[in-house]
Amino acid sequence: MRIAIAGIATESCTFSPLPTRLDDFRLTHARDPQFAQLYPFLKKYPDGEFFGTVTAKAMPGGPVEASAYAVLKAEILERLDRLRPLDGLYLDMHGAMNVSGMDDAEGEFFTAIRMTLGPDCLLSASYDLHGNVSERAMAALDIITGYRTAPHIDVLQTRERAVRLLLRCLREGIRPRKAFVKIPVGLPGEMTSTEWAPGRSIYRAIEPEVDGERVMDATIQVGYVWADEPRMTACTIAIGIDIAAISQAARRLAQRYWDHRADFRFGVEARSVDDCIRLAMQEKDQPVLISDAGDNPTAGGVGDVTYFLERALTLQPPDLVYASIPDAEAVQRCLRAGLGAAIELEIGGKLDRRHASPLPVRGRVNFIKADGENPQVVLRVDGIRIILTARRTPFHYRRQLLDLNIKPEAHRIIAVKVGYLVPELNAIARRNFLALSPGAVNQDITSLPFKRITRPCYPFDPDMKWSPRVQLI
Ligand SMILES: [Zn+2]
Repeated sequence: MRIAIAGIATESCTFSPLPTRLDDFRLTHARDPQFAQLYPFLKKYPDGEFFGTVTAKAMPGGPVEASAYAVLKAEILERLDRLRPLDGLYLDMHGAMNVSGMDDAEGEFFTAIRMTLGPDCLLSASYDLHGNVSERAMAALDIITGYRTAPHIDVLQTRERAVRLLLRCLREGIRPRKAFVKIPVGLPGEMTSTEWAPGRSIYRAIEPEVDGERVMDATIQVGYVWADEPRMTACTIAIGIDIAAISQAARRLAQRYWDHRADFRFGVEARSVDDCIRLAMQEKDQPVLISDAGDNPTAGGVGDVTYFLERALTLQPPDLVYASIPDAEAVQRCLRAGLGAAIELEIGGKLDRRHASPLPVRGRVNFIKADGENPQVVLRVDGIRIILTARRTPFHYRRQLLDLNIKPEAHRIIAVKVGYLVPELNAIARRNFLALSPGAVNQDITSLPFKRITRPCYPFDPDMKWSPRVQLI
């Protein structure tokens, strides 16, 4: 069985003014050592002959430049064309890409692939669970599956499931039927985590629906809410050989999601920035972690919004670590000034001018990590240690702080630009808060200037009525 592997994976916030460019994508080819890390399970399936083409991945950000998408798509299509005839294609996707001037990037991409590979090749895609799925994407694919955990700890299992389903369908000559229910609900990932109710029980209901025969797989997509495009909603998908069974599975999962729409909550105390800082200052146990959620780069925020920092500098907590502000120019100035130097500069607010402006600070260069492509410095302003990075850098690991000579347990407050805490940060936190801060991924979603999503949609139209409609595609 000749199987190709390709993909373009990113999550695009249409409220972000920072476009995602070609060089924001990391490309993996079959010859790269990274390839085996992405797909270590391939060796378990010796009856498949796998051909890596290109998998392109970019950190969440603003809409992808049309020219960047065109280059990636052309390279993938050209490589796929050369590999024909193919029995199958595994597509390693995210599912919430927005390309400037295009409403349904994945749908467009899959349709172009289908045109290139013809009607007989089976297409199997794995998605995040924050994907916005369209009818067009569903029509072009044969198999689609998605993560079942948020925070995402089943990335590899999901990729493997997409490949396993593909191989099985090829072996047994199955072309699965697909049942698809769009659920008119748009909620942030910070409320729909699978770690607590109701997300946990909603996602746990997937497995009992899958019997491996009539229903071969089922998926719930929460959707990605910071995308002002008509396809933005949650959805359920079931695939298999029995139309009645997949319809029932997709309908049941969708109804459950809808019934719980008003029960989704933030998993931690969510408050204004000032409240979070004040409450953290009163806390005895340390460290207290605060998510500066409105500008979380891993959800598509730009990352250099300075509002939280401005409030911290005003409220003056005696000991706070702030991770981080990407500002290449400020990092260079600190590097030139040298370790220990007193310095006056403007930080952040240069990339996201829609939600911020540069913040003047006067401090001392406390630590320098100059090596590599992403030099980082710690700027100390009174009790506040501000981490400045040359590039947009999510801080998810303890190691990243230790590398900057910051032992998290030794500090009172650590503020990080994240949404829900990833497992490693959660393990460090003695208490945590989610700060409802401004930015492109503001958690107050009904306040965002949506113009193009399909209405009615909950919570934008809170009183709307709905019952599931199954589309067999
Ligand atoms: Zn996600």
